[in-house]
Amino acid sequence: NTFAEIDLGEALNLNIRRCKYVKPTPVQRHAIPISLSGRDLMACAQTGSGKTAAFCFPIISGIMRSNQSAPRPPRVPRMAFPLALILSPTRELSIQIHEEARKFAYQTGVRVVVAYGGAPINLQLRELERGVDILVATPGRLVDLLERARVSLQMIRYLALDEADRMLDMGFEPQIRRIVQQMDMPSPGVRQTLLFSATFPKEIQSLAADFLSDYVFLAV
Ligand code: AMP
Repeated sequence: NTFAEIDLGEALNLNIRRCKYVKPTPVQRHAIPISLSGRDLMACAQTGSGKTAAFCFPIISGIMRSNQSAPRPPRVPRMAFPLALILSPTRELSIQIHEEARKFAYQTGVRVVVAYGGAPINLQLRELERGVDILVATPGRLVDLLERARVSLQMIRYLALDEADRMLDMGFEPQIRRIVQQMDMPSPGVRQTLLFSATFPKEIQSLAADFLSDYVFLAV
């Protein structure tokens, strides 16, 4: 059971080898095939379990495969239309996800941009203007970008919620609900939603009930 046996697309498989990942971690071994099959997923995952790759690989692979056939976003000046959104609770975690995702997406044609609060927005706006396939963001900063009409979520085909329990603990539930309301694509069908959390209090279960459809629950 190695990554070489999972066909994620040539460029991504090469990057995985460059990262020296050989064997999937337990959460990756189960989450990646489920995600590649198109199902929604709620997964129990702690820090250090390899969860970042577990949601990044299927998203990058899916975008690589559909890059020719996908509908083009409308042309709206200075508005970014990401295909995938990865929500994370903190600036530090967002930066970390962005760094990893960029390594995985190297020379795949998939562009990853990060936006977090507590930092000047202008640099982030400039990066968004250059185009974005995968947006890694904290909820507060993303709401700001939506209010400024600099990001549209109408093309989102992949939504990953990382450390969902921590996002709720930090009081981000209203922002997360506002964000998901702006997505046009239904889940499942066009959008695929992947929710990762270390714990499953009833607030997480109600988020899952509202955002996910016919999902697989993975506890490893
Ligand atoms: P994460 O839980 O996503 O924060 O990952 C924890 C650490 O494990 C990170 O430094 C990853 O680069 C590393 N990692 C993730 N998956 C693998 C793998 N399959 N093989 C080796 N290292 C990995």
